[in-house]
Amino acid sequence: MLNKNVLKTLHEEVTGYGATLVAVSKTKTPDEILTVYNAGQRIFGENKVQELLLKYEQLPKDIEWHLIGHLQTNKVKYIAPFVGLIHSVDSEKLLQVISREAVKCNRVIPCLLQVHIAEEETKFGFSEQELLTFLAHYTAKPLPNVLLCGLMGMATFTQNTEQIHKEFAQLAALFKRVVQQYVNLQPHFKVLSMGMSADYRIALEEGSNMVRIGSLIFGERG
Ligand SMILES: *Cc1c(COP(=O)(O)O)cnc(C)c1O
Repeated sequence: MLNKNVLKTLHEEVTGYGATLVAVSKTKTPDEILTVYNAGQRIFGENKVQELLLKYEQLPKDIEWHLIGHLQTNKVKYIAPFVGLIHSVDSEKLLQVISREAVKCNRVIPCLLQVHIAEEETKFGFSEQELLTFLAHYTAKPLPNVLLCGLMGMATFTQNTEQIHKEFAQLAALFKRVVQQYVNLQPHFKVLSMGMSADYRIALEEGSNMVRIGSLIFGERG
């Protein structure tokens, strides 16, 4: 259940850092999302294409929908007409498909490149070296209908705050390096998406300017 004060306080804290709040609404019903919408929130994040699509169809059209979970190439076509930002681009192939589908709907789709910073093996994303190699080649020959807007990363799921600080600091340093090295990514390459309910404060301290928060806003997922 939404506590309006929680949303308000969170929003103030996040915007105090000059950051953007993405309300992660995965597994939540359209009614629950509407409650948060009516409290003023307009950016929502989902991690599954099918769920995103259903909610897009049922909810107000001024919602900006972000895809934050792993995206399969064969599903890009479903979200290409409306998605506001894809946080989870983890391969060149996927970016090519996004651009191709964007052409079909006459759009330019904003994307973040997901970087693997956590210890866990299972999380998707480019390694630091893969990212730099990819960008060297991409910036020489960019795709027409995608906009690279920044980086996204998830820290290791751990109680060790020192480790979380370290991982976010590493991603922030990589972001800074990319911004300095690849000037032709500007003026769009501005977003550093890191931080979830459990670690968003650490992320903001380390320079995040977009946090993705679910359970703190909506309550724990069942
Ligand atoms: C679920 C999810 C979140 C939000 O997680 P909470 O712990 O509920 O805040 C953020 N980012 C991604 C990629 C997610 O899948």
